[in-house]
Amino acid sequence: MMRLPWFGYHAPRTLAEAARILAAEGPNAMAIAGGTDLLPNMKRRQQVPATLVSLRQVDALRTLRNGSGLALGAGLTLAEVVAAAPVRTHYAALAQAAGQVATPQLRNMGTLGGNLCLDTRCNYYNQNYEWRKAIDFCLKKDGGTCWVATASKRCVAVSSTDCAPALIALDAKVKLVAAAGEREVAAADLYLNDGIDYLARKPGEILAEVRLPDATGWKSCYWKLRRRGAFDFPVLGVAAAVRTAPDGTVEDARIVLGAVASRPVVTKGGEVLVGRKLTDDVIAEAGTKVASRAKPLDNADLDIYWRKEVVASFVGYALRELRGDDMRATRLRIAKHPV
Ligand SMILES: Cc1cc2nc3c(=O)[nH]c(=O)nc-3n(C[C@H](O)[C@H](O)[C@H](O)COP(=O)(O)OP(=O)(O)OC[C@H]3O[C@@H](n4cnc5c(N)ncnc54)[C@H](O)[C@@H]3O)c2cc1C
Ligand code: SF4
Repeated sequence: MMRLPWFGYHAPRTLAEAARILAAEGPNAMAIAGGTDLLPNMKRRQQVPATLVSLRQVDALRTLRNGSGLALGAGLTLAEVVAAAPVRTHYAALAQAAGQVATPQLRNMGTLGGNLCLDTRCNYYNQNYEWRKAIDFCLKKDGGTCWVATASKRCVAVSSTDCAPALIALDAKVKLVAAAGEREVAAADLYLNDGIDYLARKPGEILAEVRLPDATGWKSCYWKLRRRGAFDFPVLGVAAAVRTAPDGTVEDARIVLGAVASRPVVTKGGEVLVGRKLTDDVIAEAGTKVASRAKPLDNADLDIYWRKEVVASFVGYALRELRGDDMRATRLRIAKHPV
């Protein structure tokens, strides 16, 4: 049985208090929300914070404000996000992404903020301590070599959050709160292409809120490839959002890939669509354009060449759904037989 290491624990009730404790404790402290990722990582000694600052009792993180746009507290569970009527009605990509994270039990514990700050993953890293010790560890934790790209000075572990690509496609912003003050950044700017330093969040900053713009005229969706349809981390995520004129001409569009790099990849696929209708030919052209940005590496499940090959198909599924095609049978087939 894997045991947790010893750690100090704080359970503040306000955001200001949580930020103050994180600032005072310094780099050895980490925030914990649902704990569905952090606690297993601690058991495997991938992350060993001396102090945990729980965000679960901070009511300010659990709000939902609906005005011109939508503000979601980072402490809302994924189940609450999926159940929220404004999310389901106006931000389908987020509802679909959050609804495909892990299992119902984990979605009842796991939060939106925790999902956005999720540690990057790799076959050589998401292993217990003894396994990692047997290969002399790796660059991301305790070692000096990247076993995926041995010449690389940079860890290339993969961004595996389902919600981040969806929120970037929806043009969301996030509010970060620290003892020294708060700031707002675009969700797209929250991520860095580095498997170790994968977040532009500064130490001590708490992700407090996700802010979605007014979605009038927009349609969005999220498609996920994983080995087991019931639950699994993504080996590919495709988030797409389009705004169309009444005659079906695309006025604006964004297509974002997940699980193909250390951060979500914003592609130029949307540019292919603007000023055109979502015909089969245009969709195929966008799929080819998006697929050229996917560079999966051999550090996650499934064959990398196949993972690259299916990108265009998944972009096609997403865009056909946004065109209004009935894609329920395809979704069901992929859920039952993903591979
Ligand atoms: C079996 C299994 C399957 C899973 N499958 C998926 C999947 O398919 N897709 C997926 O995306 N995830 C998956 N996960 C990962 C995880 O369950 C979810 O990402 C979940 O949303 C994480 O949220 P949490 O609140 O539990 O985060 P925690 O574990 O509490 O924290 C995760 C990280 O975020 C930081 N953090 C948390 N909240 C904040 C905040 N408000 N501000 C700043 N930092 C914060 C923590 O310090 C930590 O680094 C899976 C996990 C398991 C165990
Ligand atoms: S990509 Fe390389 S350094 Fe990063 S976790 Fe994997 S093996 Fe380790």
